[in-house]
Amino acid sequence: MLVRTLEVGVCGTDREISEGLFGIAPQDEQLLVLGHEALGVVEQDGYGFTRGQLVTATVRRSCCHCLACAEESPDSCLTGDYSERGITRLHGYDRELVAEDPEQLVAIPKSLGRLGVLAEPTSICERALRHSRTIGGRQPWQLERALVIGAGAIGLLATYLLRLADVEVTTASLEPENELVEQSGAQYVSTHDNELSALGKFDLVIEAAGNAQLMAQTLGLLRRSGVACLLGIDPHHQTVELDGPVLGVDTILENHVLFGSVNAHRQDWLAAVDDLDRARERWPEALEQFVTLRLPLDRFQEAFEHRGGKATLVLSD
Ligand SMILES: [Zn+2]
Ligand SMILES: [Zn+2]
Repeated sequence: MLVRTLEVGVCGTDREISEGLFGIAPQDEQLLVLGHEALGVVEQDGYGFTRGQLVTATVRRSCCHCLACAEESPDSCLTGDYSERGITRLHGYDRELVAEDPEQLVAIPKSLGRLGVLAEPTSICERALRHSRTIGGRQPWQLERALVIGAGAIGLLATYLLRLADVEVTTASLEPENELVEQSGAQYVSTHDNELSALGKFDLVIEAAGNAQLMAQTLGLLRRSGVACLLGIDPHHQTVELDGPVLGVDTILENHVLFGSVNAHRQDWLAAVDDLDRARERWPEALEQFVTLRLPLDRFQEAFEHRGGKATLVLSD
């Protein structure tokens, strides 16, 4: 399918690739076209899609030689030989036209419109929550109180998805206040003047700040049968501290789980698009504030440097 790119979200992954820290160009090529948070429009009818229809596309593609990929779960690929649009061995969407495998396209409802550019980061949160619920649900468990650490795009979207399910949410981050968090009905706490340990204990803790020390601390913030899910990345070599009995006693006696999650299964993409549209209906003004900077492609540098809200590159109106 030929897809015309409308808009592409920018995140830390793009920044890291542009700095040469991450990413692999396609075989026998020197350059990698970035762009994995795509919103595009179908150029011609085919495969159940119609010209003019809004679409996004999955990021990770099968390695073709593992059990998980054979079962259409490249998000759980067992070899690491997968490709990823705009990240690993496959060009991304920061170009006018892309030829895409129709099976990798995900339809965006008209009602969602340009907010469809948030589908990729939302799919990451959907997978994390689906896995959290599966892990928590292995024994009798109720998801009543959740803590989200970090209020970047992933932290915010996780907050909104949990609020959609009417979970009581506290979101903690460095800045003094965060109106977007509060518009969802979640409580915002600045970690500047509050210790996380003073917030009580939670059924679910999501770390989306990318701080390994905080990741270790999540175990000590769990209620009985609580689940901690790590989404932020922290590649720094360091020794992190954890009070011995939190790991050696409480994790066992209180049936805790700490796990990591990356990427998303196709079902998470479908859930993401669906939930984004439900969130838009419930909090229309808030959702419009998620993208704080829209720039043309040639100003990508400014988009990469942008902090505070999602930046996007606009390729077509
Ligand atoms: Zn991203
Ligand atoms: Zn695989």
